[in-house]
Parts: sequence; C-alpha cells; structure tokens
Amino acid sequence: MDFKKQIEAVMEPLAQDISALCQINSVEGEPQPGMPFGEGPAKALEAALALGERLGFRTENFDNYVGHIEMGEGEEMLGILGHVDVVPAGEGWDFDPWGGVIADGKIFGRGTLDDKGPLVTCLYAMKILKDMGVTLNKRVRIILGTNEETDWNCMAYYLNEVKPELPTIAFSPDSHFPVTYAEMGLLQYTLTREISEKLEIEGGNAFNSVPSKASVVLDGKYAADLEAAVAAYADPAMFAIEKADDKVILRATGVGAHAAYLWEGKNALTHMMAVLGQLPLEGELKEVVDFVNGHFGTCLYGENMGVACSDDDCGPLTLNLGKIVVEDGKLVLCCDSRIPVAFTVDSIEEAVKAKMEGTGYAYERVSTERPLYVPKDSELVQTLMEAYRTVTGDTESQPQSSGGATYSRTMDNCVAFGCLLPDQEDTMHQANECLELEHLKIWLEICLEAIYQLAK
Ligand SMILES: [Zn+2]
Repeated sequence: MDFKKQIEAVMEPLAQDISALCQINSVEGEPQPGMPFGEGPAKALEAALALGERLGFRTENFDNYVGHIEMGEGEEMLGILGHVDVVPAGEGWDFDPWGGVIADGKIFGRGTLDDKGPLVTCLYAMKILKDMGVTLNKRVRIILGTNEETDWNCMAYYLNEVKPELPTIAFSPDSHFPVTYAEMGLLQYTLTREISEKLEIEGGNAFNSVPSKASVVLDGKYAADLEAAVAAYADPAMFAIEKADDKVILRATGVGAHAAYLWEGKNALTHMMAVLGQLPLEGELKEVVDFVNGHFGTCLYGENMGVACSDDDCGPLTLNLGKIVVEDGKLVLCCDSRIPVAFTVDSIEEAVKAKMEGTGYAYERVSTERPLYVPKDSELVQTLMEAYRTVTGDTESQPQSSGGATYSRTMDNCVAFGCLLPDQEDTMHQANECLELEHLKIWLEICLEAIYQLAK
C-alpha cells in the first residue's frame, strides 16, 4: 500500500510528540506508592497513554508497571513491545538531554532512539492505518514497559500477576533493523569461597560489563618480580606499578565493553591475573590467582571453564568475569555467560557446577533469561524482512542473532525489529542521543508496512 502522503502529513506532529515524551526524565527512581519504579517511569507511561488516547486508541494502565495502547478488532492480536524508561543521561551532552530539542534536522534527547522514538513511531503508524480506514484482521496492541533498562520487573509483574492475553505474533522495536531472530540465553552467577587472609584485590563493577580497571596490593618483596612480569607481558602498557611503604600496588587498565560484545573490550581483571600468575605468590592469593587463571584466563569463550560451545545461529558462548570482590571473609567472582540457542541454560549451569566440585568455590545462580529463537524461514521473520526490504531496497542485510536482550524474548513468536538502520549512528545509552528526521521517516514507513502486513 502507498502511504507516502499520509506519512508526510504526520511528520511534524510525530517529531513533536517524540520530543515531548523525551522531555520526561524517566530514569528509574525510588519506589513510591503506586509508582513501583519511581516518579519518572510512571509519568512517562501516563504521557504515552494520554498520547494514545488523543490519537483515538483504547488504553489501559496496569498499576504503573505496564500499559496498553490498542486499536482495531479481531480474535488475534499483533503485539508491539517497548519501554518508556531510559538510562541516565550521563556526561558530555551538547544539548539538554531532557530538552527534546529539534535542530539541524534532528531530535536530541535521551530516549529518542531507545525506546521512546520507536514507540511513538509505531503509534503514528497505527494512527495512519486507522485514519485511512484500512481493514485489519488482528488487533494491534502496543505494550509499554517501565523497567526495561534495569531489572525487567515490569514484565515479570505483567506476565505473572496481570496474566494478560498474549499476542499471537509480536515484535519489539528496541534494537536494529532488519530483524534479530535469535537472542542468546543469559546466565549470570557467582562463584564464592571463604577467605581468612587479608586480600586487597578488586576489579570490575557489574556482571554484564568487561572490567576496565583492576588493582591488587602486594607485599613489597614482589616489586622486582612484578616489574619483570609486566615488562615481559604481551601488553605492558595496560599496567602501572606503584610503591607505597612496604607494599607494591599493581593497577591494570583495560577497555570496558558490554558483556554481550565482550570481544570489543579488554578485561583488566583477567589480564592482571595473568601477570600475577608469573609471580612466586603464596597462600590464598596464590590459590585465587591460580583458580581464576585456570577457569577464566584471558580467553573469552569459556574454554578454561569447560563450557565452550557454539552454533550456526549465534556463534560461540561467551563468558565474562565482570567483577571480583572481597568482603566479610568471602571472595566473590561475578560471571556472565551468553549461550548459543542450540544449548540450554541448564546444561551450561550443570557444567559449571560440576567444574566447581572440589575447588572450594560455591556456585550460585543470580539471574537467567531464556533465549529467543524464531526460525529465519518463519512467517514472522519473512514478513518483517519483506517490509524492511520493500521500503529500504536493502537486499543485503540479513536476519541477525545477538547476545543482547530485548523484551522480545519474554514472549513466544516475537522478534526484535528496528529501529536503528544499518547506516544510522548508534547513540543509544550515549551522550547526544539523537534521531534524524530523515531516518524517522524511514522508520515510520517500515513500521507502517510491517504492521499492515502482519495484521491485515
Ligand atoms: Zn531499549
């Protein structure tokens, strides 16, 4: 169908409504009565639902956890899953991150790409279909989460407490075009042992980040050995040595990265352990260094843990040692694995547990996300690819797999679709997050085509 004229007509209000929603700071805050994730996410949800109502749709708010905006009639339902919460602004902006400034053909603001811009775009696609009186056989429902950037507790509440009717097919416009049809399983766990000596070692700050910093305080007697070990290391520039009284401090600087793309980083902690492995250490520090080198090392794909595996869709399993902490007589290692869809989270967990037997380390599961897999030749993936190709003419980009996680994995028969275009700069979670109006128009065209094809 040709929607060109209708698209032109809504570009101005569409940009204004994205700007308005991005002016609400919806970073997670302290819970308040009736606002489970603080004031910001609740306000953004309210504003998005009000917009849905203004455009002529039915809306529903589930206790400020999740909201619906729905159009049309029909037994079946097409779901569109997104979220109105955002990550903190951070430093380095040239514009007010909460200003919604429209300038130089762009909308600037936190949330323009992730995920308010894509949601409002889908809403306007629905409006065009409604205004044109296009007959659809499915209802179309936008499902708005409010806690995606941290704990996904909104979806847990929605699925477990609200127990809503679920869409028969769905997509989540919270990633890249064209389609992400496979998302790896996620397993985060801790390995913990007792410590009775004084260990001053630290590194990293989260399961899902590659540590960019690590440090250890050693007895001064190791100073000469340490200097030699650093000098002989493959990348001596990662390290700085400081002497203080009878101590010597080793500081490592790596490159931070998200654990889903850990090959883009350089793990300061595991590289520091590799250097420590060259010293004639004693006692518990030696035990810890040997354990980490033996089970993690500087490899990225779980080789030393004995969990290396891979499949054609996702490539290799990844294992990130994200953090080490010594506290209250315990040493804790925080680990994050992304697991290819051909393998179960449980089978990897069993392998790690078995590997821990007799080591003195206790395994504990911290969190897990089931994988997403909708076959490439499924109707859903094919239809979305076709919509994308029809609008963009891009026949080269193929359906992708990812170690990242979107809401699409919370439901069956749902994939991530859009909205970042292959040639679009990715400023999600960064300073100066912005959306070009030229790209916005393409987004709208693709989403319109996709919703029409899936719901007709
Ligand atoms: Zn997002």
